[in-house]
Amino acid sequence: MTVLVTGIGEMATQDDELGELSDAAMIVDGSAIGWIGSRRDAPAADERVDLGGRAVVPGFVDSHAHLVFAGDRTAEFAARMAGSTYAAGGIRTTVAATRAASDDQLRSNLERLAGELLSAGVTTFECKSGYGLDVDTEQRSLRLAGALTTESTFLGAHVVPEGIERDAYVELVSGAMLDACAPYARWVDAFCERGAFDVDEARTVLVAGLARGLGARVHANQLTEGGGVRLAVELGAASADHCTHLSDGDVDALSGSATVATLLPLAEFSTRSPYPDGRRLLDAGVQVALATDCNPGSAYSTSMPLAIALAVREMHLTPAEAVRAATATGARALQRADIGILAVGRRADFVVLDAPSYVHLAYRPGVPLVSQVWRAGVRAV
Ligand SMILES: [Zn+2]
Repeated sequence: MTVLVTGIGEMATQDDELGELSDAAMIVDGSAIGWIGSRRDAPAADERVDLGGRAVVPGFVDSHAHLVFAGDRTAEFAARMAGSTYAAGGIRTTVAATRAASDDQLRSNLERLAGELLSAGVTTFECKSGYGLDVDTEQRSLRLAGALTTESTFLGAHVVPEGIERDAYVELVSGAMLDACAPYARWVDAFCERGAFDVDEARTVLVAGLARGLGARVHANQLTEGGGVRLAVELGAASADHCTHLSDGDVDALSGSATVATLLPLAEFSTRSPYPDGRRLLDAGVQVALATDCNPGSAYSTSMPLAIALAVREMHLTPAEAVRAATATGARALQRADIGILAVGRRADFVVLDAPSYVHLAYRPGVPLVSQVWRAGVRAV
């Protein structure tokens, strides 16, 4: 079945050749894009949809989210807003609730958040484990995530849970826990940070995951200027995430590598922390992606449009750069060639904005502009 979409006032394709089109049309052919061009040249199709001059962008790609958990950390957020500081250890309260939760409870929370992401225009999301921190709950988390996304990530190395020595835990994560989880994951991740895992511990876990055929991603340099970014580059990780505190050497390492720097401004927003300098990274030639980091502790938001607005306002990206970071470069951070760009042959994932231009994503912060979401050629919202 083919659908001709007309009345596209502005189309930000993210494709280098097509660029930005006005008064555009597109043919959706099954699950893929069959044709893109000017409305005047549009071929016939089985069905026709007119968007009345609205802007179209690729479906957002959220390459960093923690959605399998139970419990609530409202009080911690309120305390932080009243002046207490964020530390990595708050994760342990979610771990206790997650271990105690049934599959049905975890699944229903996960499905609710996945629904929020879709409503916000996210057509592909990554989902990490990391609130089980024992073999059973980590595997369970990945099985549940795997029902909703192919981009599932084993994050046993989130923090060291209570009741086990550090060395024994690193051995468990890179041994028996990895064995149980690797069949259900595409990626391995480690929280390389003071209060979580040091560079050597993170390297042990990531190298073990790579040896099992998983791709690597790293929580790096969120709270301190540690060695996480350089570890990510050293290991050829798909992405170094957060990148809030970077030395010049870190920026150089990223710019000379294929590792994407994934910025998560909703975490800085929700922890009242300084934002990463996105401008500095782009000016150095680093590939920059944006993701939500949706999690119950440091960023309980599924709003990619808000992340885009913050990237523009607080991290000095242009609106065009921010949308690219949330789409094409997000896809690159997941090493996906089928999504993130509107071009012939790509998956027909796109967002219709109730606005004449994608610039409104930053110009009208907090306003629900996502009016339609198409995923694999089917209108989902
Ligand atoms: Zn995270």
